[in-house]
Amino acid sequence: MSNVVLKLPEESLLQIIKHYENKKTPAKAQYVRFTAKLTDTVVTVYNSGKVMFQGAGAEREAGKWGEASAAATKVSGAKGDTLPEDFAKLSVLGSDETGTGDFFGPITVAACFVPADKVELAHELGVKDSKLLSDDYMRKIAPDLREAFVHKVLTLKNEKYNKVQAQGWSQGKIKALLHNQALKHVLAKLDPVKPDAILIDQFAERGIYYNHIKGEKEIIRENVLFSTKAEGLHVSVACASIIARVAFLEEMDRMSAEAGVTLPKGAGKIVDEAAAKIIIKHGEEYLKTLTKWHFANAGKAKVLAGKRRS
Ligand code: MN
Repeated sequence: MSNVVLKLPEESLLQIIKHYENKKTPAKAQYVRFTAKLTDTVVTVYNSGKVMFQGAGAEREAGKWGEASAAATKVSGAKGDTLPEDFAKLSVLGSDETGTGDFFGPITVAACFVPADKVELAHELGVKDSKLLSDDYMRKIAPDLREAFVHKVLTLKNEKYNKVQAQGWSQGKIKALLHNQALKHVLAKLDPVKPDAILIDQFAERGIYYNHIKGEKEIIRENVLFSTKAEGLHVSVACASIIARVAFLEEMDRMSAEAGVTLPKGAGKIVDEAAAKIIIKHGEEYLKTLTKWHFANAGKAKVLAGKRRS
């Protein structure tokens, strides 16, 4: 299912109305000028001049009009797929990642299945949008979530990250591969049970996501939906987000203990300072094993370390 909105000039609107005339259905609201129902797509022309294409064939149909007109602006609807109204109550496999913006530490990706009859349980265990939750709170509830729900969490450690990054893999590609792998693991664990839907917290649009993983042997495509802010759309994504976050924190704990300093999160000045100290104490090569080395923080830390030494 997907959702594409185009803003088109009047001449294109007239063409569209003519083109879909034989599939016309009665307009349901005053602000709707024309509606047509195809087997896999609903086309709605609004009085505002916007045209919405909804359904499995949305991109195909929109493609007939979007590129034909230079005046077209693609304002990709709700930043992702349109979900059914009762989506929050379905059995959904959700996935999310963390650590992508942190200089120190891994990227972690989790996929978590919350069946319809456990949606309430997830809320009772304290799951909310992880952006509203503190790290300590997430550490507290994560063990219960890992126990209650079928899930998979993957941790891409820094040495491997730096290796594939140096080979030219973008963060988008790295994330897409990890999401696909985590989803695959959970689906295998669930077999023969199938989720009603899979929801990926969107970091790339569908086409880009699948382009990243096109070389993979097994690509999860069936019932896959993408949306930004997906944690708010199904609790499975919120669970995945918390599980991924806590895996990140646990790896940071382990690395901090090993390095003998508390490694700060994020990519700000505190991070540059801590990185400079590590260079002075253990050298650049060691720092590299703890970080996403291509971040600008590496260069800043080297400059700081140089100043301290002189
Ligand atoms: Mn996310």
